[in-house]
Amino acid sequence: MTDDFRPAEMLAERLRARIASEGPLPVSAFMMEALFDPVAGFYATKDPLGAHNDFITAPEISQMFGELLGLWAVECWSQMGSPDPVQLIELGPGTGRMMSDVLRVLRAAPGLVDAAEATLVEASPALKMVQGRNLSGAPVPLRWAPRLEAARPGPTLLLANEFLDCLPVRQAIRHDGAWRERCVALHPDESGRFAFVLGAPLSAADLALIAPPLRDLPDGTLVELRPSDAPLINALAERFAAHPGYALFIDYGAVEPESGDTLQAIRKHEKVDPLDAPGTADLTAWVAFGALAREGLKAGMQVFGPVEQGPFLKGLGLDVRAGLLAQGQDEASRARIERQAARLAGPGEMGALFKVIAFASPGLPAPPGLDRFEAPGAA
Ligand code: SAH
Repeated sequence: MTDDFRPAEMLAERLRARIASEGPLPVSAFMMEALFDPVAGFYATKDPLGAHNDFITAPEISQMFGELLGLWAVECWSQMGSPDPVQLIELGPGTGRMMSDVLRVLRAAPGLVDAAEATLVEASPALKMVQGRNLSGAPVPLRWAPRLEAARPGPTLLLANEFLDCLPVRQAIRHDGAWRERCVALHPDESGRFAFVLGAPLSAADLALIAPPLRDLPDGTLVELRPSDAPLINALAERFAAHPGYALFIDYGAVEPESGDTLQAIRKHEKVDPLDAPGTADLTAWVAFGALAREGLKAGMQVFGPVEQGPFLKGLGLDVRAGLLAQGQDEASRARIERQAARLAGPGEMGALFKVIAFASPGLPAPPGLDRFEAPGAA
């Protein structure tokens, strides 16, 4: 056993003790512990992002990603009437790479770089340190907050890439005509490993969280509930009701409600069993963009998108940016930049699976690259 696995074994032991005293844990509780246990949680303990680590995200693939979001933010700021100060908030900033690329573009927008105050909303102490190191030369004041609600009030530009996918997800399975919580318990083989089991029936309030078209699907169907979506959207709506703001979320997932298990675990770029060695793999689930959009409308915000990442980035000028970066470079560098652009926008790569959605205060114009969300059935 490597050193890497020792804290993980302790986390597994604590989870076993919790199951022994509380009974089977909902998938969301298991996911929370596996990601954020302060000693052995996946995000709590190390720097999992990047080419040599567990998985690679768009800002780590290329600086072009953050730069294009920076351009998006500059345009939104001017559409808001160039407020000063403006809160530049990033949810789940990872290594700080995207923020540093966004800030490079903001430097070229003089009014904005002087007006912006950046807040990084981060739960992981280890990643906060990485962010502090990577953003030490930032041209704007930097603060950290544990939650969106704790960020300074005021006009806001908010960005979040691959944040929503690691919010804990609940799963329910239809069994004998009733929806029951999918839980994690100990495997009956007494090896100490974890196994999925069926827990209690969902309450009426929980049943209401299942998208109506999915509620009558047959026995054996699995659906996912995202209990953290509504509190986040409501916090955003409250902020955007008080002051003008735009928020952009990018993540992978489907637009329309779909049934099926999207919980996945990635360790060292490989898909692994989500219940194996909690804390040593990233656990995520697909974002439900349609549900998120409807939640945003219900909370009183304007909603734009969702649109696929590929067309969105191309609309913001990905190809032009790639061409500029490639100018004067040798052939190998030019090929690398082209390859990076293809990874970000190619339909078989991140371009179609990843979606972009934006929220805005009532009355603001549409943000660049996104059309107004049309709720199905709306006139
Ligand atoms: N946006 C970065 C990192 C994505 S990984 C990128 O694209 O590379 C997810 C990030 O969200 C990590 O920084 C993780 O620690 C943070 N995070 C996840 N859940 C969180 C929560 N509930 N509160 C605050 N930060 C969270």
